[in-house]
Amino acid sequence: MISSSQLEVVASKRSTAVIYERFKYIKQKVYSSGDIFWKCIMRNMKCSAFITTDSEMNYVRKVSGQHSHPALDPKEMAFEISTSFCLSPSNSVCR
Ligand SMILES: [Zn+2]
Repeated sequence: MISSSQLEVVASKRSTAVIYERFKYIKQKVYSSGDIFWKCIMRNMKCSAFITTDSEMNYVRKVSGQHSHPALDPKEMAFEISTSFCLSPSNSVCR
């Protein structure tokens, strides 16, 4: 089951990413508060959207910017999630 508002953690050997509201974000930095700053992966589309989550990646604190491209479709979402490691208990393929 994939909910559009769910925060899915998708990690590869090279990076940690999350999918939120059908957009994928790459981990950029961790604030001193522990909160994590994520930037949209579509940088080559000049997309400047970003989100901030809590340190546990349980919820999104802040969403900023406008995406310059369409969201992932359900097929792409499923692919992103199925190719990731199971880091999140909410990740549907981990059950
Ligand atoms: Zn974007």
